[in-house]
Amino acid sequence: MSPAVAVVASLNVDHIVLAPRIPEPGETLMGFSTSRELGGKGGNQAVAAARLGAEVAVIGCVGQDEDGEEYREALLAEGVDVAHLRTSALPTGRAAITVDAEGVNSIVVVAGANADIPAAAAETAIGELPGLRVVVGQLEAAADATERAFAAARARGVLTVLNTAPVGDVAAKLLPLSDVVVANEVEFRQLTGQDPVDGLRRGSAELFAAGCRWVIVTLGAEGCAVLDASSSVHVPAVAVRAVDTTAAGDSFVGALAARLAEIPGEPTTADVVAACGFAATVAAVVVTRHGAHPSLPTLAEVLDA
Ligand code: ATP
Repeated sequence: MSPAVAVVASLNVDHIVLAPRIPEPGETLMGFSTSRELGGKGGNQAVAAARLGAEVAVIGCVGQDEDGEEYREALLAEGVDVAHLRTSALPTGRAAITVDAEGVNSIVVVAGANADIPAAAAETAIGELPGLRVVVGQLEAAADATERAFAAARARGVLTVLNTAPVGDVAAKLLPLSDVVVANEVEFRQLTGQDPVDGLRRGSAELFAAGCRWVIVTLGAEGCAVLDASSSVHVPAVAVRAVDTTAAGDSFVGALAARLAEIPGEPTTADVVAACGFAATVAAVVVTRHGAHPSLPTLAEVLDA
């Protein structure tokens, strides 16, 4: 196996509570049910790409605990290369998620081992993956590790894709190393101070000035906008009856990476737009299903949809 996609990945165990509403500060509320699932943006993106047929490596870190062992086994079962998945004395990352009756969620993530990915090891990992075409990062995993991995990838001509979720100060140091930036509407506003509709070109200009080549702004059921320095294309979403949008964005990023990894040589804007069309088809399947990993489709399921 020679992975074409590497994800510098956050790997979390999600503890989900369904409740009538999100509690007020200081309030205790009776909920409906609880569940526990594997999640984390990086893990979701890696599994999404693997199910679509990409050869994927995870560069990440879990705790020396049952959650970490379970996540490692799950990635192996998906055919993901875990040679660069390390363990830490910190516990496996965890998210506490409350979902209200309308499907709106509030989430607290404790990074744990995700903050402990050694930066030098992330850089080394890139060098040990000779078939690499695309490296994906988000802002849930150790920023130093993502920075070193992106710098090593760039030096080799490997495409770097940054999903700016959740936006934090570290975005500023990663943007100059990111070929493709994928932001949702909220993140675009936070990153650029511009409205994702009226200020799309102005806000993107800032990201191009920082060193990015393509900006993709996902707009939920409205699809996404794909911009390069001189053009802008709207890619519509696929109309479906959504029941749960969990992992919509992560599946979009995983599918985008899987498709970009298949392009020989430098991608063009037309390639990026086509990859976004594929990603929108994948994400449309995801929103018709519940959960994160359980909702991620195989390539055959996408072609059948
Ligand atoms: P999330 O945080 O819910 O995972 P996100 O905020 O990162 O998602 P969105 O912009 O909501 O990202 O969605 C990503 C992509 O998923 C959209 O560009 C679109 O292609 C698809 N999508 C999202 N919601 C829907 C929907 N209701 N119907 C069809 N496609 C959708």
